[in-house]
Amino acid sequence: MNKTLPFSKAELERIIEKYPTPFHIYDERAIRENARDLLAAFSWAPGFKEFFAVKATPNPHILKVLKEEGFGADCSSLAELVIAEKVGITGENIMFSSNDTPAQEFRKAKDLGAVINLDDISHIDFLEKHAGLPELISFRYNPGPLRGGNAIIGLPQEAKYGFTREQILKGYGIVRDRGVRRFGLHTMVVSNDLEPNNYIATAEMLFDLVVEVYQATGIKIEFVNFGGGIGIPYRPEDKKVDINLVSEGIKAAYEDKIIKQGLHPLRIFTELGRMITGPYGYLVSTVLHKKEIYKDYIGLDACMANLMRPALYGAYHHITVPGKEDRPLDHVYDVTGSLCENNDKFAIDRSLPELVPGDIVVIHDAGAHGHAMGFNYNGKLRSAELLLRPNGDVKLIRRAETLDDYFSTLDFGTL
Ligand SMILES: *Cc1c(COP(=O)(O)O)cnc(C)c1O
Repeated sequence: MNKTLPFSKAELERIIEKYPTPFHIYDERAIRENARDLLAAFSWAPGFKEFFAVKATPNPHILKVLKEEGFGADCSSLAELVIAEKVGITGENIMFSSNDTPAQEFRKAKDLGAVINLDDISHIDFLEKHAGLPELISFRYNPGPLRGGNAIIGLPQEAKYGFTREQILKGYGIVRDRGVRRFGLHTMVVSNDLEPNNYIATAEMLFDLVVEVYQATGIKIEFVNFGGGIGIPYRPEDKKVDINLVSEGIKAAYEDKIIKQGLHPLRIFTELGRMITGPYGYLVSTVLHKKEIYKDYIGLDACMANLMRPALYGAYHHITVPGKEDRPLDHVYDVTGSLCENNDKFAIDRSLPELVPGDIVVIHDAGAHGHAMGFNYNGKLRSAELLLRPNGDVKLIRRAETLDDYFSTLDFGTL
């Protein structure tokens, strides 16, 4: 995947005059085009809907763009439900896929008319007690140990999520007896996965279960939700997942399993986050210091409080130095932030052009699980978020935190 930027160095310098680094900036045009590609790929699917995983980029301005493209919202907390509500996403355009859920959050989801996707069979009673059962209910499936040559990443039997197969079969009968009339089925068994066949395998698994539920209980499931988890090409040598290929594989399985069994139409939902916005957000930072000891270090004005993935997972994020794209990559640096943690590094042993204080550095693929994972450890403040509009204008969609924000939960007067 060729790593390019949606702005020139001169354009970036103009933006920085108004909004000092560090900041996250999102490319609205690319996000919209990507959203349209997804919907076009699944145009064959009955009632297809993508519920954007709000946790990936919980900014209402981003969610508004996606709403305009026809997306719903996948929420898993009270704050995410409120963001969806503020954007005007309500009712069954909200998927509430939570776990270990407080009663208040079920009540809010129910008040909004959201599709409630239960994580556990015991939550049937809990939901009934605290919010009442809605007309439509969905269950999250955990397949447990996956047999055969299935290459799905992760070990579902080690994951805290979802119902077992037996609980799924039992659960639909329980809620039907209590008046539920409409049913959905959800799972999520992949994460940041670049292999199209794994998402297709998820679909096949759920289609089989829809058939099994129908044969065992007579219950006709109205939708399947394959969750999120499609990966993005963080590394230049990674290949972007061909969403048309994924869609074709799912279509073949739909014809083979659902149409053949007379269970058409079955609605198809996704709740992708990373692949919707991830490649279209950038963390822009300035080189503060250069340090030469046993290794050479480049110190930025951003730190892992702005983008935690490299420190947390050892994740690769590509780095471009605007204006130095054509220089040889003949210097090897650790690119660091200022936290008092030695893992506060955006890159280790990265070949880059020679850098000097004042250079602008752009860190790619920060559009999902980037600003969202920000934190305040070491008194670090979360940065601003900007939206690069299709006409080239830049809109501030979240201001940078200030010291007053940081101290706002303290009362120095009681010292
Ligand atoms: C995190 C999450 C998603 C989105 O995952 P991505 O990797 O961002 O696509 C979707 N659904 C649920 C339930 C999640 O927890």
